[in-house]
Formats: sequence, C-alpha cells, structure tokens
Amino acid sequence: MSAAAPHHVVIVGAGFGGLAVCHGLAGAASRPGLRITVVDQRNHHLFQPLLYQVGTAVLATSEIAWPIRHLLRRRKEVTTLLGVVGGIDVDGRHVLLEDGAALHFDSLVLATGARHAYFGHDEWEPYAPGLKTLEDATSIRRRILLSLERAERESDPERRAALLTFVIVGGGPTGVELAGAIAELTHQNLREDFRLIDTRKARVLLIEAGPRILSSFTPDLSDYAQRALQRLGVEIQLGSAVTDCNDHAVTYGGQVVAADVILWAAGVRASPAAAWLGMPADNAGRMKVEPDLTIPGHPEIFVIGDTATINAWHGNPVPGIAPAAKQMGLHVAQTIKRRLQGDMRARPFRYRNSGNLATIGKRSAVIDFGWIKIRGWLAWWIWGLAHIYFLIGLRNRLAVALSWLWIYLTGNRSACLITQVDHRPKSR
Ligand SMILES: Cc1cc2nc3c(=O)[nH]c(=O)nc-3n(C[C@H](O)[C@H](O)[C@H](O)COP(=O)(O)OP(=O)(O)OC[C@H]3O[C@@H](n4cnc5c(N)ncnc54)[C@H](O)[C@@H]3O)c2cc1C
Repeated sequence: MSAAAPHHVVIVGAGFGGLAVCHGLAGAASRPGLRITVVDQRNHHLFQPLLYQVGTAVLATSEIAWPIRHLLRRRKEVTTLLGVVGGIDVDGRHVLLEDGAALHFDSLVLATGARHAYFGHDEWEPYAPGLKTLEDATSIRRRILLSLERAERESDPERRAALLTFVIVGGGPTGVELAGAIAELTHQNLREDFRLIDTRKARVLLIEAGPRILSSFTPDLSDYAQRALQRLGVEIQLGSAVTDCNDHAVTYGGQVVAADVILWAAGVRASPAAAWLGMPADNAGRMKVEPDLTIPGHPEIFVIGDTATINAWHGNPVPGIAPAAKQMGLHVAQTIKRRLQGDMRARPFRYRNSGNLATIGKRSAVIDFGWIKIRGWLAWWIWGLAHIYFLIGLRNRLAVALSWLWIYLTGNRSACLITQVDHRPKSR
C-alpha cells in the first residue's frame, strides 16, 4: 500500500454490513491516509427487521430509514454516491456503475445484500410481492388496505370473501411476523372502521412448504409460535408448496384459494456480486468467500453480509441476519486498518451468535440465544427493546417506542394510508 496517495476504500452497499465497515474505519483516516467512497443504489439505509411494520401500517417509512449522506455527514474522509453498480473490473480495480461511470479502488467491499427469490417462478412476483425495500412495504400496505376498501363496496359474497383473504407464503420469521400483524390489523385494530364488512372475519392463511414454521428455531419454539399465531386467528398450512400465484388466487397442494392479497416470504437470492466477480456461487447466489472474507486470489476484494456464504459459526454457515453482516463489516474494517499499518496477515472471521428472534403480533415473541430460549411476553419485550436499541438516533427510538405504546394501549394504527396507484397486472 502506498503511503503517498490516500488508500481508497470503496464500499458498495450501505446496509448493515457496508455501514459497519465504514464505522469500523472511523479514526483510521489520518495515519497513513485513507479515503472512503460509499456507493448505494438508494439514498437511505434501511432497518429491514421492522419493514413488516411499515407493510402493516404500524410505522411510517421515515421511522425505519435514514439518508446515508446524513448518517455519514461528520466523516470528512467519506464520500457518499448514489448509483447502481452493474459490474467490477477485477484486474483493473474499478467498480463499474450502470450509468457508465467507473470508480478506481485500492480495497473493495461488496455488501449488496439479497432480494426475495421465487424458485424459478419470477412471473409470480407481480401477484405475490416480497418485502425487501420501502417501496415493497408501502406497496404491501396499499394492497392490504385497498382489498379491505374494495370488500366494503363488494356485494358478491364470493368476491368479498376473496378480498378478505390474505395469504402469506413462507413460514420463516418474515412470514410469521407479517401473518401475526395482518391478523391483528384486521381482527382487532380495524374492526370499528368499516360498516358493511366485518374485518374480524378476514382469513389470514400462512402457507409453509416444510413440516413446521420457523424452521431455524428449535421445534418447541416453532410449536409455541404456531399456537400463538393460531390464537391470533391465523390459519397455518404446513407441508404444501405453492404451485401457482395469479392476481386472484394461489394454488398449493392441489387446492386453489381465491385471494386478492398474496405476500411472498419464502426465499432469498443474493445480489449478483459473484457474477460481477466471475466467481462461483451457491444455490442462493451467495459467493463462497475465503476465511478472512476476501475472494480467492484477490486479497483487496471483500464480500460480506447476505451476499456471501462462509462456514464460520463453529463450522456451520453464518446466518443471513443483520448481526452477522455487522460482525463481518467490523472484521473487514479491522483487516484494512491492520494492513494500513503494515500487518498483512490474514485473520479468519468467526461469527459470534447473537440470537435468533421472531415476533408474533404485539404481545408474543420467540428468542433462541443458544444457551437460553425465551418465549411469550418477556421475549416480546426483549425483542422490542433490542430493536429500539438498534435503531439509529434518539428521535427514531422515541418515535418508534411511542408508536408501539400508542398501538398497544389504543389499537390505533396511524399509518393506514393508501399511497400511489396499484400497478398489479391482470392475469389470465
Ligand atoms: C423483511 C426482512 C426482515 C428481516 N428481519 C430481520 C431480523 O429481524 N433480524 C435480523 O437480524 N435480520 C433480519 N433480516 C435480515 C437482515 O436485514 C439482513 O441479513 C441484512 O440486512 C444483511 O445486511 P447486508 O449489509 O448484507 O445487506 P443489506 O442490509 O440488504 O444492504 C445491501 C445494500 O446494498 C445496496 N445495493 C444492492 N445492490 C446494489 C447495487 N447493484 N448497486 C448499489 N447498491 C446496491 C442496497 O440498496 C442496500 O442498501 C430481515 C430481512 C428482511 C428483508
């Protein structure tokens, strides 16, 4: 590394992993010289764990997202750029943006995350949207609220039943959280708002292809979550894979269920970082990285977070969750700092388990810390406090805590807003 010109670190993606690299490099700029460029296709950092609450009208968008430029405003060595990366010139050391620009790097960190996957059925996406961005969340909110509005004006009982049927595909944490929140919204929070329909009769159906929901948790916590969801009025269908989705129905296990709102929470696919680098990826598109999170043959390129796969959790794969992305980001920052001081030794990344959490409605949750398992209201409080703690800024912490307290006490969800138009195409 040259001591003359500042070492240029380019970080692609200002999600949990990318921001952790940036934070980990704080204070390293003066000696022997460092400059950082953060590139993201969006102008905001998003707290994805609470996205389902925007989708179900609990929180407003601005409570879970912050402009990246503002977050990094005090870091004079950091430049923030809005741009979509479309490739990497590995040998020439350039990040290639889709608008034709190129950024030279000395060290590169790819932290571009993942999106939902439809297992080869991308044609289902317009009918069964997933939840990954703020736009996804507001579009899901719009679909849920529009369906209720249309049901209020529908005189045909069969159509009305379809408009009051909400299907969630995938029984992982996101599917469980969405199902619980939609059941509470329809069965409890909105029951006084409509005159011609009884929202308590809304059908919330959670479809899971595997034998149990929350398969990454222990079976007793899965059982508990299943019972807690059923108490909220969620119907759970296990062991049935979805075989078709369109604008008016979902098909699974040979059954066709008429539904206007179908939400997808069944799978993820990593960003195409492996393809940009010309490296092999696993079935979910994640790049297999070296023990120190670099790519084979290129110690100056790191891949972290949801877009990487590594067996660094006592020999098991590191889970695709926010704490893992943050830990990887901090490890990369340490590596770059050591290299700037002349220490070029590669140190393996090791994941420290920080627990597996999922919430079921506004009164119950399950937590698996490995050494202890907690469920019920105590787990919900731990979940709530942890999420408030990890939000950025005092204002957001207070705003979210107040929104939750308000809904807890009054049942009023203030974010029941239908915004933008419904672009869903008609199917056959
Ligand atoms: C709905 C939902 C709920 C979740 N709940 C939890 C939870 O409760 N607890 C938990 O620990 N984890 C949860 N996760 C997972 C967690 O959010 C991810 O593991 C984490 O965000 C991964 O961090 P990352 O830095 O790899 O990617 P991300 O945080 O996704 O960041 C990727 C960034 O890269 C940018 N980007 C992508 N492609 C490009 C490109 N071509 N050019 C420029 N920029 C690009 C994106 O805009 C984004 O800002 C949840 C995820 C979702 C979707």
